[in-house]
Amino acid sequence: MGARADAFDLGQLALSSGEGRRLELEVPFQSFDFGGQRYGTRDEQVPAVLDVARTTHGWSLRLRGEVALEGPCMRCLEAAHPAVVVDSREIDQPGGGEDLSSPYLSEDELDLSGWVRDAAALALPAQIVCREDCLGLCAVCGENFNTAGPEHAHEPEPDPRWAALRELKLD
Ligand SMILES: [Zn+2]
Ligand SMILES: [Zn+2]
Repeated sequence: MGARADAFDLGQLALSSGEGRRLELEVPFQSFDFGGQRYGTRDEQVPAVLDVARTTHGWSLRLRGEVALEGPCMRCLEAAHPAVVVDSREIDQPGGGEDLSSPYLSEDELDLSGWVRDAAALALPAQIVCREDCLGLCAVCGENFNTAGPEHAHEPEPDPRWAALRELKLD
């Protein structure tokens, strides 16, 4: 198990240009909103591997890990456990313009927590489900089709035209 790190001071590594270091860290995970629902992790921290390389004037960084998320299934609202693989790179080259500036780095301080959360959110599938064949909720009464059983059904609404016909008195 690595050291706990919300933010990590790259300067403390005292790397010179061309040198690199691989670090195993425990990164605190902040929950986030996705598709109107809230997703987080069961454990407060997620294990991650950070590769740091010192370039001539900046940093080349890679963050990897597996994040076991928890949050509601988008079909039935029961608990879902999407696991995402994070593999994200950042380059920071002072004076190199916006493309070469990492939003997670200020001076030599790396916002690991923000980076791993954003990378996990980006790696999520478009729809989070408790299982691939989740049947969702009944549109009429909201019952969970996964547990309701195949006989769950509602009487179709009577067609208003038939009601009008029934009121016709045929002599
Ligand atoms: Zn579901
Ligand atoms: Zn129903």
